[in-house]
Amino acid sequence: MLTGKDGVSGNENNERTMKTIGYAAQSAGDKLEPYHFERRELRPNDVAIEILYCGVCHSDLHQVRNDWGIGLFPMVPGHEIVGKVIAVGDEVTLYKEGDKVAVGCMVDSCQECDQCHGGEEQYCREGMTPTYAGNDRITEELTQGGYSKHVVVREEFVLSIPDNLDLSRVAPLLCAGITTYSPLRTWHVGPGSRVAVIGLGGLGHMAVKLAVGMGAEVTVIGRTDSKREDAMELGADAYLISSDETAMQVAEAGFDLIIDTVPVKHDLTPYLSLLDIDGSLVIVGQIGPLDETNTMPMIFGRRRVAGSLIGGIAETQELLNFCGRKNILPECEIIKMDEINEAFDRMERSDVRYRFVIDMSSLEG
Ligand SMILES: [Zn+2]
Ligand SMILES: [Zn+2]
Repeated sequence: MLTGKDGVSGNENNERTMKTIGYAAQSAGDKLEPYHFERRELRPNDVAIEILYCGVCHSDLHQVRNDWGIGLFPMVPGHEIVGKVIAVGDEVTLYKEGDKVAVGCMVDSCQECDQCHGGEEQYCREGMTPTYAGNDRITEELTQGGYSKHVVVREEFVLSIPDNLDLSRVAPLLCAGITTYSPLRTWHVGPGSRVAVIGLGGLGHMAVKLAVGMGAEVTVIGRTDSKREDAMELGADAYLISSDETAMQVAEAGFDLIIDTVPVKHDLTPYLSLLDIDGSLVIVGQIGPLDETNTMPMIFGRRRVAGSLIGGIAETQELLNFCGRKNILPECEIIKMDEINEAFDRMERSDVRYRFVIDMSSLEG
């Protein structure tokens, strides 16, 4: 493409492109294996990041298996990225070498539509650019995620990490954290709010910690009693068993907001009656069809069912600052890069408390 003064094609380009290594699935359903690839040459507004930690999100597993039919391969997953800045483009003003930074689920958007102007880049009218399994807006090359040593991201999509937070535990805030923080903020949760959280996995445990941090009264809803102790340890005020009809009746009309983190098809009907008049149930787990739902509790109580996708960049920074002030961090199990396939298996069995985080120093260049 480029012809340098010495006439050697591509020389300049090759020198500036950053060679890196990650773990990728070559095609849908493949195991993740070491993968050598290149990060783009720094544009004037780009930040180059050495990745220190990357969280393992349930959606990484869905994407690798192409469960949603939107996978692009080869795929380096990972959108809960924590690292340090190693280089910046000429026009970068927000970051400098050595800064501790984070990148979440998106790396670009149009920056011009009403949603982008309103700080809701996740709902960009042109579609945001996902951190992996997306196409760069300029070159259309595949975006590749955080299961790798380095990433290059435009500065508007880079976040700053408060100094006091333990870097090894920050990563899950970038997806699980913001996914639950955004609806809590959108529905104005604060002291005295009555919040219920359905499911106590990666998302659910963050919802509990964040709602408690906001001063809400928090109840965890589980199918059995098995997670009661965990829920209370995470700071919940009460635990409700959804199969206990008497307890469910007593709890009727008792919540302002329910965060539903269940990742599979399920019936909303039993939960809707738990909402007070004008209450909302927000779905952040299951993407796809639900079981048939009875509209009666909605109509007879102006109750709402809503969905919510991550959060904007400004709100994600607000979350990180909030967690810094309150010292709120996810519960993490640190793994090595080559343990990722086993971690996927365990995640599928819900055998993780509550989020795997890859220590990227375990990946040798
Ligand atoms: Zn995620
Ligand atoms: Zn936009």
